[in-house]
Amino acid sequence: MNVLFVASECAPFMKTGGLADVIGAVPKALAAAGTNVRVLIPAYPALHDLAGGGRSVMLLDDLFGGKAEVKAVNAQGLDVLLLVAPHLYDRDGNIYLGPDGKDWSDNHLRFAALGYAGAELAIDGADGWTPDVVNLHDWQAGLLPAYLSQSGRSAPPAVMTIHNIAFQGLFDASELANLKLKAEMFAADAVEYYGKISFLKAGLALSDRITTVSPSYACELLTPEFGMGLDGLLRERRSDLSGILNGIDLEMWDPESDPHLVENYSPRSLKRKEANKREVEARLGLQRRDGPLFCVVSRLTSQKGLDMLLECLPGLVAEGASLALLGSGDSALERQFAEASRRHPGQVGVVIGYDEPLSHLLQGGSDAILIPSRFEPCGLTQLYGLRYGTLPVVARTGGLADTIIDANEAALAAQCATGFQFAPINATMLEQAIARACAIYRQPGIWSAMVRRAMRHPVGWDVSAAAYEAIYRSLIAD
Ligand code: ADP
Repeated sequence: MNVLFVASECAPFMKTGGLADVIGAVPKALAAAGTNVRVLIPAYPALHDLAGGGRSVMLLDDLFGGKAEVKAVNAQGLDVLLLVAPHLYDRDGNIYLGPDGKDWSDNHLRFAALGYAGAELAIDGADGWTPDVVNLHDWQAGLLPAYLSQSGRSAPPAVMTIHNIAFQGLFDASELANLKLKAEMFAADAVEYYGKISFLKAGLALSDRITTVSPSYACELLTPEFGMGLDGLLRERRSDLSGILNGIDLEMWDPESDPHLVENYSPRSLKRKEANKREVEARLGLQRRDGPLFCVVSRLTSQKGLDMLLECLPGLVAEGASLALLGSGDSALERQFAEASRRHPGQVGVVIGYDEPLSHLLQGGSDAILIPSRFEPCGLTQLYGLRYGTLPVVARTGGLADTIIDANEAALAAQCATGFQFAPINATMLEQAIARACAIYRQPGIWSAMVRRAMRHPVGWDVSAAAYEAIYRSLIAD
């Protein structure tokens, strides 16, 4: 079976968040079961060298204002199709945001182009390869099924995966013709959304099946609280919606071989995790304390609930614990965490920025990871936390609820706890969860048993890759 993935990022080539990790990992897991996935992503400047070594497999004379080409390359165990369109993607800085921190003003064209090229590949194939199914990811690829549908040509079935419904790709209705969309597409059962064009809605309305990244988030999406205006459409399509839990790339995230750790370790050699803790302390200017070292590796946005953590910092420090935070995003949060590190010198260490190697070291060197998200479709950092024996302290929502077993009395007695959950999601309950984690940390026997259990908890892709495959097969059989 051949499957075309279409997405705006893919690790390790281009990553701003969890979407990239998933797009880089699922194809490898599916390959093990005999499914060939090719991943179409834009050729951003960081990918020029990669594209330079690729074979040209498709030419597009005018892709939203300029010539474009698709180049095929095999790298890092992935079959990648790079959409080379310098007029759309050749610019420095963030792939979504200009230097002013605002969305690039032509993002509608940049990502319509991705969907358009994806539709051409889906229909015509390239390089002697034709997909049996297309899996498009998030709003950036959302117009793809609209182009398939208006082409009137025979096309493979499409699956849309929602990684985060908060990002919808909403644009002015006057852009319809610029987006190469026919007038009839501006309809409630296609791209129209309250008088605007919604890329995400187009994908959800026009794909054959919809998946999202955890079972709990699939349920939450049907409610007004989490559906963000698309819950009505999703309720109508409830029988086509599945929640498939994300896994992680077990090779890239492996404490036994991770090159970013100063010492590698396993559940049998936990003592060696200590050296990584000392390295984190040294790098972030933290003192050695009696309590646990908590870390955060996150985008700094209101979704992630880190404003609540700011409120809990005096309590965390009073417990004898310390915090190492790596993050970037909202400038007010960046400033507040920088101030917090000055207010609690040696106890709160903050690095503002995006740093892949440091994100691995924090997972390896911390005792626990804090994820107080207000909503979380799946979340990956708690899965890395489990694998690295860095116990997750999480809000009970979405994929966080599905992946962590809270250390309540019953779970401790049954020896199945892997972390700490709190609900309702507010600063008081977060502070209580931090205090519970500190209390268990003071009982080293119980703590290290939890750490070993967390490290053995299955977080790979086996089960979920089979679930994706079953959906693809059911569509082909239809
Ligand atoms: P989201 O996709 O909503 O940002 P996830 O938990 O699904 O959240 O995935 C986040 C991914 O991005 C993880 O791989 C995490 O390690 C990484 N990440 C987040 N912030 C940073 C950062 N500042 N530096 C390095 N990696 C980061």
